[in-house]
Amino acid sequence: MKLNKTVETILNKQINAEFWSANVYLSMSAWFEKQGLSGMAGWMRAQYQEENSHALKLYDYVIERGGEVKLAAIDAVQTEWKSVLDVFEDTLKHECKVTEMINNCYEVALSEKDHATAIMLHWFIEEQVEEESNVQTILDKIALVGEKTKSLYLLDKELGARQA
Ligand code: MG
Repeated sequence: MKLNKTVETILNKQINAEFWSANVYLSMSAWFEKQGLSGMAGWMRAQYQEENSHALKLYDYVIERGGEVKLAAIDAVQTEWKSVLDVFEDTLKHECKVTEMINNCYEVALSEKDHATAIMLHWFIEEQVEEESNVQTILDKIALVGEKTKSLYLLDKELGARQA
């Protein structure tokens, strides 16, 4: 069954949001590079790649269902932050916003009785639980060790161990 227009529209919106997410993380990565925190920059860069892969996963799905992918302009992203904590607080806010968008896609799929899309979105719903939890863990660590130079140095090393 071909994708209906309502579902197609919301999925195209989500493709755009995932690319926007990718840019948010790449911008955060650049900010960390500027601070000399290459481990955190690497963590954000891995996140950037993950978001790109989310966009492409939806892109492939729309095509597989006979829908039309329509790419649109991507919103500008923030480029400056006050501190490391500020970046990760923004990251959590950002992921909560993405979760809301995914949940909205799911509700549209259900109301349109598009079960295949709803099932496809299960993966994204689970992924969002993981994303929020990962960021919360980092925020908990910052709360624990503080933002002194030595603490940030160690946290930078730890986050730098993440592989894309
Ligand atoms: Mg995503």
